[in-house]
Amino acid sequence: MSGLAAAIRVGMYGKSVLLLERHTVAGGLNSYYKIGKYTFDVGLHAVTNYVEKGVKGTPLTKIFRQLRIDRDSFGLCPQTQSRISFPETNLLFSNDFDQLRQSIADRFPNEVHNFDKFTVLAKTNKEYSKASARGEIQSFFNDPLLMEMLLCPLLYYGSATENDMEFGQFLILFNSIFLEGFARPYEGIKPIINSLLKRAKEVGVERKMGLGVKKLGTESNRVAEIVLDNGSIVTADQILSSIGAPETQRLIHDSDRCRKSEENIGKLAFIESIAVLDQPPLDLGFEDTIVFFNRSHQVKYERPNDLVDYRSGIICSPNHYDYGDRSLKENIIRVTAQASEPMWRALSPEDYQKQKQLAFDRLLETAASVTPNTSVEKLKTSVKFRDVFSPTTVTRFTGRIGGAIYGAPIKSSDGRTEIENLFICGTDQGYLGIIGSMISGIAMANAHVLSAAS
Ligand SMILES: Cc1cc2nc3c(=O)[nH]c(=O)nc-3n(C[C@H](O)[C@H](O)[C@H](O)COP(=O)(O)OP(=O)(O)OC[C@H]3O[C@@H](n4cnc5c(N)ncnc54)[C@H](O)[C@@H]3O)c2cc1C
Repeated sequence: MSGLAAAIRVGMYGKSVLLLERHTVAGGLNSYYKIGKYTFDVGLHAVTNYVEKGVKGTPLTKIFRQLRIDRDSFGLCPQTQSRISFPETNLLFSNDFDQLRQSIADRFPNEVHNFDKFTVLAKTNKEYSKASARGEIQSFFNDPLLMEMLLCPLLYYGSATENDMEFGQFLILFNSIFLEGFARPYEGIKPIINSLLKRAKEVGVERKMGLGVKKLGTESNRVAEIVLDNGSIVTADQILSSIGAPETQRLIHDSDRCRKSEENIGKLAFIESIAVLDQPPLDLGFEDTIVFFNRSHQVKYERPNDLVDYRSGIICSPNHYDYGDRSLKENIIRVTAQASEPMWRALSPEDYQKQKQLAFDRLLETAASVTPNTSVEKLKTSVKFRDVFSPTTVTRFTGRIGGAIYGAPIKSSDGRTEIENLFICGTDQGYLGIIGSMISGIAMANAHVLSAAS
């Protein structure tokens, strides 16, 4: 997404731009794949940052404006309602911020005033703080449970750091998830990708699919040649890399640099099960669009010492968006939990398949156990198709080392690397998710390609 957005932006200004993608399908971590008669999105639970038409000055509107893309081409449909579920209580939220506020007023009446103060800060803050989010929000709230409940979805939707995140990132996500909201196109991620591809073509982007970068040859601290998987060589004045910071360093084949960047490999990886059901999720007790669940008092957001950590995670039902008078053809529940990439990688092929099936069952059981009025037996017998992807699947298809969807813990906020004409965009620049990565692509193209040209 960041690579596509950056390429469009550069192409719009008449510069010659080559977009290289190793995979044969566009979209990266937010692509789609076909299995059997089904097409599944890789990473789409929710498009964050949703605002209604006409709302100006937000990341979503910036994308449409900066890329000159018609908003309708994304076909965004708003969520119905989401939930943060802890053993002690639940908080409900939707694209109407007042619902979260009211939910806090009901469950944490003594904290509403603090929450209001915090909201003002989130809305007005302009400075990015690298301080610990846990440390900072402690000074706002008296009840540690509320703090954990607010942290849970924000960690899950964008922290590359175990058990914490930078306060600046916390505020960005607070805005994109709570103050703005969730949406999804009726047809999943495809219309968004198609809209970007169409725009890229219009502005003359040359796009090569199934052709990756094998090596970046440097000379006098500049990338002098880009060696492609097929052995051919291309050159460019500026290179924006969206594949990740350590992944980019590995292309330079410089042992000192690589050693340094290996320490910056993210530890957070996930497993996701996709269950196609023979009845609507609602009939099985699943009412919400997204549920962020946590089964202990404190959120454990870290690489587990086991294949999967079932103590917390996400349940998503793509059926629960407001598609007007349409409903999705398939009934789907997706369950995500943290997983250990090194442990999945160490499995033999037979064990790997076996463990994936076991994980699928446990993920469904977990989803049922945190959802009131759900029978696990009924849920299991309603499954008519299943798929699971593990951290190693993520690495295989996107090249993300360690299956680290949120990339490296230390971000390159200005996009610069030690190489003069090589820049990072997307996840490891610091903005992630569907909308965040596009914003990053636009910003890095503006800063390092377009301003360099002017
Ligand atoms: C399971 C899952 C659920 C998610 N849920 C959501 C969600 O609900 N909402 C949301 O907003 N975000 C979600 N995300 C996150 C979101 O998908 C990512 O943050 C975003 O897509 C990252 O985009 P990017 O451009 O930074 O990187 P990537 O998507 O990783 O793009 C990098 C691209 O580079 C390609 N590549 C790698 N190596 C090479 C090479 N050497 N040469 C050429 N090409 C190469 C890869 O194939 C890939 O296409 C989810 C992700 C996953 C996996």
